[in-house]
Amino acid sequence: MQIQSIIDGARHPAPQNAERLPIECPADESVYGELIEADPATVDAAVAAARRAFDSGPWRRAAPADRQALLHSIAALIDAHADELAALECRDAGLPLADVRSRHLPRAAGNFRYFADLIGTETGEVIEHTPGYLTVVSREPAGVAALLAPWNAPLALASMKVAAAISGGNSCVLKPSEHTPVSLARLTELLHEAGLPNGVVNLVNGRGPVTGQALAAHAGVDRVAFTGGTATGRQIMQAAAGHLTPVMLELGGKSANILFDTADIDTAVNAALLGIYSNNGQQCLAGSRILVQRPLLDEFLNRFVERSRALTIGDPADAATELGPLAYRGHYERVLGYADIARADGATIVTGGERAEGFDKGYYVQPTACLVESNRARVAREEIFGPFACILPFDDVDEAIAIANDSPFGLVAYAWTSELAVALKVRRELRAGTVWINSPLMRELHAPFGGYKHSGIGRSGGREGHLFYSETKTTSLHAGDMPLRELGRG
Ligand code: NDP
Repeated sequence: MQIQSIIDGARHPAPQNAERLPIECPADESVYGELIEADPATVDAAVAAARRAFDSGPWRRAAPADRQALLHSIAALIDAHADELAALECRDAGLPLADVRSRHLPRAAGNFRYFADLIGTETGEVIEHTPGYLTVVSREPAGVAALLAPWNAPLALASMKVAAAISGGNSCVLKPSEHTPVSLARLTELLHEAGLPNGVVNLVNGRGPVTGQALAAHAGVDRVAFTGGTATGRQIMQAAAGHLTPVMLELGGKSANILFDTADIDTAVNAALLGIYSNNGQQCLAGSRILVQRPLLDEFLNRFVERSRALTIGDPADAATELGPLAYRGHYERVLGYADIARADGATIVTGGERAEGFDKGYYVQPTACLVESNRARVAREEIFGPFACILPFDDVDEAIAIANDSPFGLVAYAWTSELAVALKVRRELRAGTVWINSPLMRELHAPFGGYKHSGIGRSGGREGHLFYSETKTTSLHAGDMPLRELGRG
């Protein structure tokens, strides 16, 4: 298998002396393909194609109803190819096939349907405030969007960016992670099969600091949208600052999952397990700091540890697998390294902390949890992004809120309680972009999603996610029945 750039609807020839990167399956470390890296000249070609499509192609000028119809055709094509796309993503990213097929693929198709429907509801604003003038405020597409996608849920997350950008008439250049390029290459082909005009979506591949950096810093780009780690987000913002390009950054989290002692213990344990182990623990919205009210602590720990040890770890293609391998070697080593960091910080590892047993190959980590007394411990402050929970006890609601907010991040927060007053208080006081009360991680597509503090800038999803890819235009018309001031008449 060879993955290369797709520019203007066609596979782009490999640059001379192109860097060729191995495509590896994290479940068994086999190399099953190669990725042709896009060098800066290829990025230039992709941006130029997107610019041509925007300036002189049919997409921006198409009637919203025509764009809607095409976006719905794309969604239908994703549905028709869902098994194929899920298998590609499972092999490339190590995500459990059952999850990718049942959650990520419907979401990918749903993203195109959602933004198709949204553009059908768009209206402008009419202002008749100043006598003699009629002012119209309208939105128009911003131009060329650079879309930098992460490796933890490539199809679900990249499709949201693509759908949000192109639905309004923009064109874009998509850069997947070098670790997970395969499913997005196939998606790009499907977009063209559905009839998307050439140049509206272009694909470049390669390493972040090479291809990604060239794209984020490109003068021909009007918007940069990125999902990934906070340190990388900072670099991207600096790269985009050279041309004052607006950025949307969806970054990391260290989200509190607060279990009050009035919560139903069965639900609390299920919620905690889902919050940290689903998607192989690699999700920005993980409930990675589990705050447990002291009366619940012993029982919670016993149950959580027992269930963590019972998780089915294995080949992500196996329908029974609940926890697959981490996405790539460097990340696996980084996550395992946090077991040593936890011990050095005086945390007690209550389960896991090692490579999962029984695998000769693959990036498998045991479901891991540690108990810490202080929220100052590194494992309580840094995003680990793996099946690695940090459990902290607390006494009352004020302490829970204080611990939850004492974090550089502010992406999401969860609270489990049967007391309405407590639910309302945490909702009001938690400094996070999304608060889930007695709800598992449920990313509402119709609502904005994004973080406070180091968790990002801007929102994806919902109307707000769509507006990012637009400019506001104010047009004033003089009614003509008001005389103009006449200069130069002495
Ligand atoms: P990165 O943030 O570096 O990777 C995310 C994306 O950014 C990838 O597509 C990557 O490309 C790209 N990228 C990297 N450097 C640049 C750059 N200078 N310019 C433009 N694009 C760039 O994550 P890592 O893989 O290094 O993981 C580190 C940590 O980041 C994780 O442990 C986790 O904590 C966090 N993370 C958070 C995510 C989230 O959803 N919030 C998603 C992914 C990671 P490439 O992979 O090709 O280098």
